[in-house]
Amino acid sequence: MAAQDAELIRANLAVVSPKASELTSHFYALLFLREPALRDLFPPAMDAQRDRLVQALVRIVGDLDNADALAGYLGRLGRDHRKYDVVSEHYALVGECLLAALARYSGEAWDQATADAWGRAYNAAAALMTGGAEADALVNPPHWNAEIVGHERPADDIAVVTVRPELPFPYRAGQYTTLETPWWPRVWRPYSIANAPGDHGLLTFHIRAVPAGWVSNALVRKAVVGDRIRLGPAMGEMVLDHHTLHPVLCVAGGTGLAPLKAIVEEIVFAGHERFVDLFYGASEHSGLYGLDELLRISQRSPWLTVRPALADMALAGISGGVADVLAEYGPRYDCDAYLSGPPEMVLDSARVLRRLGLPQAQIHHDPVLTGFGTPPADAHAVGAFV
Ligand SMILES: Cc1cc2nc3c(=O)[nH]c(=O)nc-3n(C[C@H](O)[C@H](O)[C@H](O)COP(=O)(O)OP(=O)(O)OC[C@H]3O[C@@H](n4cnc5c(N)ncnc54)[C@H](O)[C@@H]3O)c2cc1C
Repeated sequence: MAAQDAELIRANLAVVSPKASELTSHFYALLFLREPALRDLFPPAMDAQRDRLVQALVRIVGDLDNADALAGYLGRLGRDHRKYDVVSEHYALVGECLLAALARYSGEAWDQATADAWGRAYNAAAALMTGGAEADALVNPPHWNAEIVGHERPADDIAVVTVRPELPFPYRAGQYTTLETPWWPRVWRPYSIANAPGDHGLLTFHIRAVPAGWVSNALVRKAVVGDRIRLGPAMGEMVLDHHTLHPVLCVAGGTGLAPLKAIVEEIVFAGHERFVDLFYGASEHSGLYGLDELLRISQRSPWLTVRPALADMALAGISGGVADVLAEYGPRYDCDAYLSGPPEMVLDSARVLRRLGLPQAQIHHDPVLTGFGTPPADAHAVGAFV
């Protein structure tokens, strides 16, 4: 994208960011007014959807100067949108409504040059998304139907759910997917896959029911073996680099253990015996639901050290928030770090590791959602799950 267009778009987003919520509501109102049938593609409650649109814009603007990263992101976004039954014809209307909403909330700051810059950027983004969708349609279904074949409750608010997709589901250890349950049609939520790919084709998820959460409560308290759910394509870049044999540092909080357990499993399967230090923190004991299994793996695998930490209780000599515990373990320059858990824990741990000397390029985590117009703490702290 031309530097001038990027500058105009950034300046315009700074103007509209205080009214992000009204802007996105207006955008969807215009869209459904122009094409009422499109309402059926969206969930009944639109708040999460509005946040996702905002996060997508934040991510796109963050990567305006990085053409490769932007192309990769938009291609994956287009591929993911196949599960919503989005088709190429929808993109033109979405673009018109987005520009109309931006114009309305920009007031006097909206001029022809800004409109043209947005128009060019949107057309380029739409082309990358439709290209990603078309390429994916040659090899994958728009979504995967899957049957629940295992449902365990290691704690009252946590379920370990195993599913069998009807068709092979391509993914790598450390990635996440989105799930839709029969109880909340069209409501998709991201969940990390807790096992490395295996011949059995099964996927396991660790789900914690959040208070009043729609999908998490359905999966923890309602779902039983035999129920059917749908999966979107695998996403996320928190995967192992097999070209290096750097030691691996994993930092997990609560159900953030899921993708890190998959990564440890992948190392077991690869037989590389890379040294792995796994810090596993929770606010209360039941949050360490996966500890026994980790300890069993570490007994068979001397290269794996598991360090559990409880926020306010000493456990095996360690206590404190997982980021504090990490700080106590001293400088780190040469490992690849993988962080997963509540957003504050991930961002705190990343800060601690950077302070301890670990380069940013070796710190990996899934995108952490931030607000519209809020500059992310670092380049990895933005993202969208649209
Ligand atoms: C990349 C990624 C991977 C994820 N992997 C996992 C995973 O492996 N296991 C897992 O359990 N979750 C995971 N999540 C979180 C998950 O996607 C949902 O956000 C969570 O289950 C809540 O969804 P819900 O539909 O139940 O709640 P919603 O209906 O979205 O929210 C209901 C209410 O709960 C609040 N709320 C939402 N999330 C939380 C929270 N975490 N803590 C407290 N309150 C909350 C909301 O603000 C809202 O007020 C992941 C998220 C991301 C972004």
